Amino acid sequence: MESCDVLIVGGGPAGSSCAWQLRQHGLDVMVMDKAGFPRNKVCAGWITPSVVEALRLDTEDYARQHVLQPITAFRTGLIDGRELETQYPATVSYGIRRCEFDDYLLQRSGARLLQGLSMESIKRHGSGWLVNDAITAPLVIGAGGHFCPVARFMGAKLGADEPAIAAKEIEFEMSPEQRDACQVRGDTPELYFCQDMKGYGWCLRKGNHLNIGLGREDNHLLSEQLRHFCDFLKQRGRIPQNIPDSFHGHAYLLYGHAARKQIDDGMLLVGDAAGLAYPQSGEGIRPAVESGLMAATTILEAMGDYRSKQLLPYASRLVTRFGPIASPRSTGPAYLRNFLAGKLLNNKWFTRHVVLDRWFLHTHQAAMQTT
Ligand SMILES: Cc1cc2nc3c(=O)[nH]c(=O)nc-3n(C[C@H](O)[C@H](O)[C@H](O)COP(=O)(O)OP(=O)(O)OC[C@H]3O[C@@H](n4cnc5c(N)ncnc54)[C@H](O)[C@@H]3O)c2cc1C
Repeated sequence: MESCDVLIVGGGPAGSSCAWQLRQHGLDVMVMDKAGFPRNKVCAGWITPSVVEALRLDTEDYARQHVLQPITAFRTGLIDGRELETQYPATVSYGIRRCEFDDYLLQRSGARLLQGLSMESIKRHGSGWLVNDAITAPLVIGAGGHFCPVARFMGAKLGADEPAIAAKEIEFEMSPEQRDACQVRGDTPELYFCQDMKGYGWCLRKGNHLNIGLGREDNHLLSEQLRHFCDFLKQRGRIPQNIPDSFHGHAYLLYGHAARKQIDDGMLLVGDAAGLAYPQSGEGIRPAVESGLMAATTILEAMGDYRSKQLLPYASRLVTRFGPIASPRSTGPAYLRNFLAGKLLNNKWFTRHVVLDRWFLHTHQAAMQTT
């Protein structure tokens, strides 16, 4: 039988950030992940500078061995509509490859790693837990993403009754011919909103890799919408004609659109397991990292007493950071929303200050500081 102070289920950005912070304060942490790292994660792979700051990433060191594409501009518009380019004087985001980024963070965390091991069972063991009949821990953290088994154990109805974002993407290495034919620049990702404003498509170039995808509030006709988006990019000459069609799908929750229980006695959820992605952009890495760090702070303060009332400060920290969970506001009649969106996305001021700075870059919210 193995034991540890904290067992984290899931080694993505949420789990590894939490593990890293706990290890810095001397706790014995195990991270269990069903995948062997490096592993792929369906994701565009775009991070904001707050992630770099909160994790104290040494970008020069990281860039020596991994793709780190600085982003200084965006091309935006409606699918089939006009395009606008917005330039920034400095780096406002980075493109990373999740297979590299997640592996780097997990190895750096200093936790004991149980890779290729899925969480299959969890039972009470004294005041703590027995996982897979093999590991005991007084506290278990659910960091297993949207389909996290700890979230399921805590009562989440995974895949049912939850209004999830459905998304599909592909990331592939371009051949020299494809590189020549690709007009998308590494420093200028392209974002195009669906005509009904229920989602958007993106195209990011990271070194020789190209990532294309589309996410929507509903999965109605997702494949058709994606095909239409790719045709649009090809017609405008933005991407090569001969891209692979092996798109992968995934789902996740937007903060405030569904409320999963976040804490219980000896248990808490972080990242996608808790449903924390930003509602306007779908950015989930920053909330995953920040929730992992907030969970670690709460755990350290609890000093070994992990009854749910001792973990309540974690829930309060989430509300302070991401706002109260309210039912999503009505966005008005569809025809009006579409008309306004079409007009506003042609407007340079609105695109820079609202769409990009506020919705996508969250420049109004300072990076989280850790000790
Ligand atoms: C198509 C798409 C594009 C996206 N693009 C972006 C983007 O550009 N930028 C951004 O910020 N966000 C993006 N997101 C959201 C982002 O990917 C997630 O919010 C983020 O990965 C959440 O991190 P996490 O650590 O909570 O979960 P994950 O990264 O999903 O990690 C969960 C881990 O848990 C493991 N696991 C699952 N089940 C078990 C089990 N039973 N036992 C053990 N381990 C298990 C998995 O193997 C995985 O490694 C995108 C999402 C999608 C679907």
